[in-house]
Amino acid sequence: MRKGIYILSFACLFTIGALSTGCGDCKNSTEQLDGDESATYQCPMDCENGKTYEEAGACPVCKMDLAEVENS
Ligand SMILES: [Zn+2]
Repeated sequence: MRKGIYILSFACLFTIGALSTGCGDCKNSTEQLDGDESATYQCPMDCENGKTYEEAGACPVCKMDLAEVENS
């Protein structure tokens, strides 16, 4: 009977530890990915045949504001 309790409490501790560290890693990595992989920008008129920019700005050809594009 005692063995069962020991195993149970060990399993509990292990689960809690895995959950807390797992969650923390998850949050951090998603936030970093969101920041790094944030959208690219592209002219809404596609003046440059699909050329994209990493920062918002204006198209050098038509001077329109670049539109945010999501890459999968
Ligand atoms: Zn343009």
